[in-house]
Amino acid sequence: MTKRTLLAVLAHPDDESFGPGGTFARYAAEGVDVHIAIATDGAAGSVAEGYEDAREKLAEVRAKELETAVSILGGTLHTLSYRDSGYIGDPANEHPDAFVQADEQEAIGRVVKLIRELRPQVIVTHDETGGYFHPDHIQCWKITVPAFHAAGDPKQYPEIGPAPYQPQRLYFTAFPNTWVKVLIFLFRLRGQDPTKFGRNKDIDMTRVGVARKKLHAFINYRDYWDVKREASAAHASQGGGGALGWIPVSIQKRLLARDTYIRAHPPTPEGFREKDLFNGIGK
Ligand SMILES: [Zn+2]
Repeated sequence: MTKRTLLAVLAHPDDESFGPGGTFARYAAEGVDVHIAIATDGAAGSVAEGYEDAREKLAEVRAKELETAVSILGGTLHTLSYRDSGYIGDPANEHPDAFVQADEQEAIGRVVKLIRELRPQVIVTHDETGGYFHPDHIQCWKITVPAFHAAGDPKQYPEIGPAPYQPQRLYFTAFPNTWVKVLIFLFRLRGQDPTKFGRNKDIDMTRVGVARKKLHAFINYRDYWDVKREASAAHASQGGGGALGWIPVSIQKRLLARDTYIRAHPPTPEGFREKDLFNGIGK
């Protein structure tokens, strides 16, 4: 049996837990080698109440939180070591070390290196909208898609890594807008503005999510709900993922204990559905 290996390339320390953490926890528990590469240091993030003192050394604080979270999920942590960019329009985007300012070819090379070293069958990254249009998320997509194809091409980046290696699957994290519509409804019911979601009030929920028919993989992680929660809680400076705390846990589990993905490669026929990112691999 081939060793199953998954590599996720995500933007910020907390994206691995607040995002597809349930998927990672489940696969790690099922014996998959789960590698999580985080592109930035999280230095441009805001801080939760009570963490104001962490402002100055935020990257350091978040590095520790990330280490704890990834170990709770059962994964191995890698970092691409870029500086966090801010959300659209944030002056942090102008910083020369900001991820969005990175030389694209060089950045792709960093992902190629990881792919050639770790030899994962499955790669996971953000989709082209970054979920909610965060420039760092979009940048991850921009570099990981070409890296996925370059890793197996001996003509590209010949100086990097032990040998060319072509992963089999490329998935983008994405969530259905049906789920988003339910949330928007609940927000309006509570008198909250769905265009100002999140601790930074900069996420317009009415613009996020994709049509269900565009989603291909549905990963149920109900059995790993608590692991994901625990990993999210490790990101205390970022609020620990408690934004939906007012929704009863039983309803959260029913609605949310499933990560959804667009399968970008290989291309899929219309109506394609799968429940396992390793469907047919390593068995
Ligand atoms: Zn993020």
